[in-house]
Amino acid sequence: EDDVDAAVQSAKKAFPKWSALDPRERAKYMFRIARRIQERARELAVLESMDGGKPIAESRDVDIPLAAAHFFYHAGWCDKLKYVFPGADPKPIGVCGHIIPWNFPLLMAAWKLAPALACGNTCVLKPAETTSLTTLRLAAILEEIELPPGVVNIITGAGATGQLLVNHPHVRKIAFTGSTEVGKHIAKACASTDKKLTLELGGKSPNIIFEDASIDQAIEGIIQGIYFNQGHVCCAGSRLFVAESSLDEVIAKLTHRMKSLRVGDPLDKNTDIGAINSKAQLATIHKYLDAGRGEGATFHEVNRQPLASKGYWCRPCFFTDVQPSHTIARDEIFGPVLAVMSFRTPEEALTRANNTPYGLAAGVWTDKGSKIFEIARKLKAGVIWCNTYNRFDPASPFGGFKESGFGREGGMHGLRAYVDL
Ligand code: NAP
Ligand code: MG
Repeated sequence: EDDVDAAVQSAKKAFPKWSALDPRERAKYMFRIARRIQERARELAVLESMDGGKPIAESRDVDIPLAAAHFFYHAGWCDKLKYVFPGADPKPIGVCGHIIPWNFPLLMAAWKLAPALACGNTCVLKPAETTSLTTLRLAAILEEIELPPGVVNIITGAGATGQLLVNHPHVRKIAFTGSTEVGKHIAKACASTDKKLTLELGGKSPNIIFEDASIDQAIEGIIQGIYFNQGHVCCAGSRLFVAESSLDEVIAKLTHRMKSLRVGDPLDKNTDIGAINSKAQLATIHKYLDAGRGEGATFHEVNRQPLASKGYWCRPCFFTDVQPSHTIARDEIFGPVLAVMSFRTPEEALTRANNTPYGLAAGVWTDKGSKIFEIARKLKAGVIWCNTYNRFDPASPFGGFKESGFGREGGMHGLRAYVDL
């Protein structure tokens, strides 16, 4: 509690000077952070993979470059905020409390810190207990580029540490990414205060394949959608809806492609699927696999490559004969497990895709532009990918509908949460 308080006090003390700094000077600091992340990209990528278990190809090509891109992008906004909010006078809020999960440690830190700093706020950030190394290394980078002391404070610890941050009276805004369950606790804690809050929570995102889609292209998208980062992705395309006439072809091609995926050493650049983040998460995934089999769905584990004896591994798999009422079709599993279902009409696909308490992302696969627009408009999801999946860009806002949370991160929309108008 003393440490959390010291971090918040330090951020509070740094706020007047940081917020009054010429925005162009603030931008220079942010450009320096971005460049330093690029310069140390190899080291950060290896650290991220060693710490969290994700394949090095992903931390190298996705996590670290995108983290740098977020700082570059937001550096550009520092002196242009008045154009984002025409006619208003955007002011920083004060101390922002950031709580992030274990699936994209450095990237989530960048998603939170970059817009907050660009708007002139100071921050206290708590990484997840299993993955704090890259955020601690980021702290070293912030020292190297001589960011003024107190502007960013990083505190490690478990959930209770996060709770203390949420409840601290001098924190003016909380941005949280993680489970819907913890998100609800945080929403309750903030409800009786004037703290601003944004929540980025879980998902059970649908990927819809129409009969006119390029099936080969769609298979790559499905694989990317669910097996990317071991399925430890809030927007994972964990429910697959296939037009009935294409179902056999999709399953045959999916089976073929899955056989060649490589599960194993996260530091091997040929690895497709790395380690499950923790023993607890592997147990959760197994609980869902048991539920899927127990409730009558058909389990397919076509990839039978041997697994290393030491480590937390889960082979990519999928279920067919899945009913909408099955646990595996409703709950977020956060693992490389896909539920495959079929549909007859676009209306049925839409109804079933939207039949979830979540609404984070969705994918639509079809050759027809008009169908893309029609379906995308009716899907209740914050991000919709068309003929692709899991693509991110700092200029594009990200966030959910319904129990996937509220508020947006990235793009001009994401700046709104960090200013008083
Ligand atoms: P979580 O418990 O929601 O953790 C997210 C962050 O919140 C972590 O930094 C966590 O600290 C912290 N935290 C935990 N309890 C808190 C509290 N009462 N007040 C404030 N902060 C608190 O998620 P998890 O345990 O890592 O994973 C559980 C499930 O959440 C997963 O199986 C998955 O379904 C979902 N999840 C979603 C996302 C997403 O991107 N939407 C990301 C990760 C997980 P500790 O790490 O120290 O517990
Ligand atoms: Mg936890």
